[in-house]
Amino acid sequence: MFLDRDGTLTEPRHYPAHPDELVLQPDIGAPLRALQNEGYALVVVTNQSGLARGLLDTAILDAMHDRLRGLLDRHGVHLDGIYACSHHPDGTVHHYRKVCACRKPAPGMLYQAAHDLDLDLTRSWTVGDSACDIGAGHRAGTRTVLVGSRSSDAVPHLHGATTSDALWQLCLSLLGTSCRSPSPYRPHDRPETRGT
Ligand SMILES: [Mg+2]
Ligand SMILES: [Zn+2]
Repeated sequence: MFLDRDGTLTEPRHYPAHPDELVLQPDIGAPLRALQNEGYALVVVTNQSGLARGLLDTAILDAMHDRLRGLLDRHGVHLDGIYACSHHPDGTVHHYRKVCACRKPAPGMLYQAAHDLDLDLTRSWTVGDSACDIGAGHRAGTRTVLVGSRSSDAVPHLHGATTSDALWQLCLSLLGTSCRSPSPYRPHDRPETRGT
């Protein structure tokens, strides 16, 4: 599973630039765990042009992603990788200012992850809340799941009103009705952290 970060795994924010600004979307632990237990790798692919715009640096981004891993870990969900595009053609930070092959809807991050983690793109899915996510997933040859109602040139294979809905749709498609059975992961199952 290729998972967008902002607006998909976490609540939408305008250029989040601090770990505390990452807040998980509600009720995503159980479906992510179901997919993980089925053997799917969970890989975040995120456009972070805030680096090119000088709004944050790689140390902050690393701290944010440590927090994201920590938030998901509380639900027994373990990310197999996090890929971030730091570029933008109009960036103010010289070495990030460029047209790159990784900024979604380009499929570069998906190709890189597939190479690094030995993933079969034709058996992979891309989940995101924007047209660029669906476009990247489509171009990389994955199937796609759109969260929310934004329109996209590339029609997604599945759709959900919220991230939780979308992930359950995906579980249903891949695992059938058994995916809704009570999860075995109980000890740390507790309400999502809602900020600090
Ligand atoms: Mg997004
Ligand atoms: Zn890039």
